[in-house]
Amino acid sequence: MEIKIAPHAGFCFGVRRAVDVAEKALESGHKVYCMGSLIHNQQVIEKLEQKGLVTIKDPAEIPAGSVFLVRSHGIDPKIVDNIIMRGGEILDATCPFVRRAQLVAEKFHKDGFDVIICGDPQHAEVIGINAWTNNAAKIIHDANEVKNLKFKDKVGVLSQTTQKKELLDSVAKELVKKTKNIFVENTICLDSSTKQAEVSELAKVVELMIVIGGKNSSNTGKLVQLSEAQKTRTLHIETAQELEPEWFDGVRKVGIAAGASTAQFLIDEAVDRIKSLCYDTA
Ligand code: SF4
Repeated sequence: MEIKIAPHAGFCFGVRRAVDVAEKALESGHKVYCMGSLIHNQQVIEKLEQKGLVTIKDPAEIPAGSVFLVRSHGIDPKIVDNIIMRGGEILDATCPFVRRAQLVAEKFHKDGFDVIICGDPQHAEVIGINAWTNNAAKIIHDANEVKNLKFKDKVGVLSQTTQKKELLDSVAKELVKKTKNIFVENTICLDSSTKQAEVSELAKVVELMIVIGGKNSSNTGKLVQLSEAQKTRTLHIETAQELEPEWFDGVRKVGIAAGASTAQFLIDEAVDRIKSLCYDTA
């Protein structure tokens, strides 16, 4: 059986950077606080938590004067200001692609545009981007939502960095029918669009796709959807232990893709287990 791995499977630049910043800070032996999971990968988080990373839900949980790590998703700047006022030290690992989306949203807002963010309203990155518009943006997850909304004459559209381009395009297409001036900024990150293109191509030439990544990872979920869109049998796993021997019965070509928060060791373990399962059942 042939195993084909998507060339850009695994850690993206932004996640690699956030993990590096965390690891370096933890070398000091001090605790490092992070609001929400540093990355959407439980296996990596557990390793960092053993070294002193503390994941919190509410900024009030951070003791005064602590080290606070802004994860790659970015955060509401008011939270950062509040931590600084309480004597905290900020390590900013906001991904540059997310930072660009924040700046685009902020500029649209300051210039008097209705700001539209194409993305998941519950996702931390989107909540953070919206904070740069004073929470004035409309967050759209489906182009049909445009039909029921009213807009100003000037509309600025951007995207959550890990969204599919199809959402941005379909929202812009609907908006053209509702308002006169539309400015679209494609803020989808390069890594996401590369991974998405690769999974779509790979799914066309294999019989089974294994997508590795956190079940709560937005970008991994998009890879699963895109693979399924090619009508290829697609299975989403977090770790190699989930792989079952019968999944590979009669399969001659298997594709592997992995989300931006998936560490290389998880990909290696999955490949090794597929090889051992197929060897043992051959
Ligand atoms: S997926 Fe893209 S935007 Fe998100 S952290 Fe990685 S490089 Fe940055």
